[in-house]
Amino acid sequence: MTFERAILHLDLDCFFVSVERLHNPHLIGKPVIIGGKSGRGVVAACSYETRAFGVRSAMPMSQALRLCPDAIVVSSGMSNYSEHSRNVTKVIDDHAPLYQKASIDEFYVDLTGMDEHFGCVKWAKALRERIIKETKLPISTGLGTSRLIAKMCTNESKPDGFGVVYPGEERSFIAKMPVGKIPGIGKQTQVKLKQLGIHSIEQLANFPEDLLVSKFGKYGRSMRRRAQGIDHSPIVATRERKSISTERTFHEDISSLDFLLNKLTQLTVDLAYSLRKKKKSTACVSIKIRYKDFSTFNKQMMLASHTNSDSILLDTAKTLFHQLYNPNQAVRLIGIRFDHLFDGELQYGLFDDSHRERDLLDRLDHIRNKFGKHSITRGTSK
Ligand SMILES: [Mg+2]
Repeated sequence: MTFERAILHLDLDCFFVSVERLHNPHLIGKPVIIGGKSGRGVVAACSYETRAFGVRSAMPMSQALRLCPDAIVVSSGMSNYSEHSRNVTKVIDDHAPLYQKASIDEFYVDLTGMDEHFGCVKWAKALRERIIKETKLPISTGLGTSRLIAKMCTNESKPDGFGVVYPGEERSFIAKMPVGKIPGIGKQTQVKLKQLGIHSIEQLANFPEDLLVSKFGKYGRSMRRRAQGIDHSPIVATRERKSISTERTFHEDISSLDFLLNKLTQLTVDLAYSLRKKKKSTACVSIKIRYKDFSTFNKQMMLASHTNSDSILLDTAKTLFHQLYNPNQAVRLIGIRFDHLFDGELQYGLFDDSHRERDLLDRLDHIRNKFGKHSITRGTSK
C-alpha cells in the first residue's frame, strides 16, 4: 500500500505525569494529578487512572479531588519538562526527514515519498520504539494521509498505541465518531451542532454547506471539510527558539499593588503581542520580582498547552505574581518571560472556545501594527 502523502503524528501519553513518574517511580500505577495545590489551582495534567473518574485537564483542582479523592497531587514545575521534551525532539531530529514540534509533547513527521524505499509503517514503528527506549517515556502514534487523520488516529490508539489509517480509509475511519473527536471542535460548537441534529462526523460531512456557513461563518466550511477527512495543511519545519522576555526597573521603589499589577498587565500584553507577531506560542510563563534590597525571586508555571492568547498568559502571570509577591517590601523591578517557544499558532479550540478571542486579538494586533504597540491597552483586573 503506497501513501501518496504520509504524515505521522506522535503524542506523548500524559507527558507531565510520565515525567514525574520517571523521577518518582512510586507514582507509577497510581492516580496522579499535576497542578496547583492551592484553593484556586487547576489541573494541568492527569493520569489515565484519574480520567476514569472524570478528571480532566483545566478542571478546578477542588472538583478533581471531589471526583477522585485518592489522587496524588504533584505541583507543576517540579521537574524539568522541557529537558525531557528536548530528549524526544532529539531522537526525532536524528531520524526524521521533516518534522514539526506542535507542542511540548506533540510532533508531526512528514514521511511522504519514503514508502518505496523502506515503508513508512515500518519506519514509524521503529521511530516510536526508539523514542520509548531512549527516553523511557510512553508515546502513542498515528499514521495517515494528513495531519488531521494522523492526529485522530493517535487519539484512538492512546495510550501506548500505534495506529495506521490506510489511504482511502479516512472517511470510514472517522464517520461513526461523534463530532467532538475532530480536533478543534469544542463543547460550544458541539451544542450548536446538536441543535442542527448533527451528532456524528458523518452527519456533519453530509450536512448542506450553506446552512453551516450561515450558522458558523467560514468555520462552517472548514469544519465540514474536516468531517470529510480533508486536510491539506503542511508540516512546517520546527526551528525552536528558546525564550523572550521583558522587564521594567522603576525609578523609585513601588509599594502600590495596583501600580504593579498595571505594569505586569502591560508587560504581559506587550510580550504576548511580540509572540503573535513572530507567529509563535509558549508553554511556560515565568515572573521575576526584585525588591528594594535587591533580593530577586522567580517563579514559573507550565501551561497545559501552547498558547499566545492574552487571557491565558495574563491569568498565569497574575497567579504567579500573587504567589510570589511580598507586600511588606517595596519592589524595584518586575519581569516576565515566556519559555519553550514554538513556531505556530495555537491549534486548540479552532472552531469555538478560542476563536472569539482570536478574532478580537487579530483586530487589536491590526491596530497595534498600524499605530504602534501602545496604541491600545488592556484594563487591569485583579
Ligand atoms: Mg500528550
